[in-house]
Amino acid sequence: MIMEERGLEVFAPEEQDPDKDSEVFFNDKMLNNRDLSQVAAKVFKKKAGLDEEFRVADALAASGIRGFRYGDYATDLHLNDVNPDAAQAIRKGLEENSIEATVHEKDSNVFLSEFGNYFHFIDVDPFGSFTQFLDSTARAANHQSFVGLTATDNAAPAGSYPTVCERRYGSKPIKNDFMHEIGLRIYIKEVFQNFARFDKCFDPKVCFHERHYSRVMGRVTESKKRTNQALEHIGYLSYCKNCLWRKFGRVDECPECGEEVEIAGPLWTGKFVDQRFTSDMLDEMPEDWESREMLERLDSEAEIITPYYDIHALASNIGTSSPKREEFIERLRDKGYPVSRTHFNPTGVKTDAPIQDLKDIIQDLQA
Ligand code: SAH
Repeated sequence: MIMEERGLEVFAPEEQDPDKDSEVFFNDKMLNNRDLSQVAAKVFKKKAGLDEEFRVADALAASGIRGFRYGDYATDLHLNDVNPDAAQAIRKGLEENSIEATVHEKDSNVFLSEFGNYFHFIDVDPFGSFTQFLDSTARAANHQSFVGLTATDNAAPAGSYPTVCERRYGSKPIKNDFMHEIGLRIYIKEVFQNFARFDKCFDPKVCFHERHYSRVMGRVTESKKRTNQALEHIGYLSYCKNCLWRKFGRVDECPECGEEVEIAGPLWTGKFVDQRFTSDMLDEMPEDWESREMLERLDSEAEIITPYYDIHALASNIGTSSPKREEFIERLRDKGYPVSRTHFNPTGVKTDAPIQDLKDIIQDLQA
């Protein structure tokens, strides 16, 4: 069956049968993920001055759609999938879309390990977690490169399966109203530390969560010094479930209400979006792509560090009803606090304002 995405043809069954291992996988609901990845590739190539040579790998290609979408930028494109049916679909797609590339039919770890320090851009988009591909991705990443990794096992780092999270990521999650931000930060920590083992520094540029998956994308440079400096962004989060106070770092007792706090981590405590990068992405992204909304939101929340608040959770914590989001944001802005909506949640607000001020404003808006 031929399907289409952004003007490219892909060969995959329209109805996906999850019980058939050999089937070529294609999920049209991953459009935002692929849109943002494609624009990130374009921006990185430009920023890094890699006009002459831009070597790209799609390590778990399935139909090959990601690789196809990088076709215009790559000077040397490689697509890999262990499933022979997928490799066949990729070959057909390359021909149909007139794209030149090398197709590999190997285990991704073997494929990537054969290309030490080679690729300027690596896409790792598996089923489930990316952890088993991190080592070979770090090996294959050039000293100046960009990598994007998808994980679809969000329930674990978002706290529904804390033991799975500890096993897979070595971190403690918390299931609460901003669990998806905790999950994203656990993923970033894991990627950063795996690159650090190779003296490579992973610098997050555009990381996000949508539905059941997260996408971690960032620049890789080879530098012990940079990596050492970035270690300061690996840490913990303290959270009080009694009054909803939260802060990066470890404390024993909530400074607001005195209750014992919960601790999540280790996780990434720095920014997960680089606003200079997303602003360039906004310049490059076509005006009519629906995924612009996601990118705009990421761009607007980039500079605010404190994990987001859910307006409903705050209101119910003080026993009142929720104010209108826009009015709440307006009040915070009037008080001079940095504030923005967040891509994580339609009723979420990102701000560094003290929690008592947030509650006072909600109380005030009741009147
Ligand atoms: N990136 C694709 C979706 C990939 S689905 C897209 O954007 O549409 C995951 C793919 O990884 C499947 O095609 C599966 O055959 C392949 N795969 C799973 N384990 C693998 C491994 N160890 N090595 C190589 N390919 C693998």
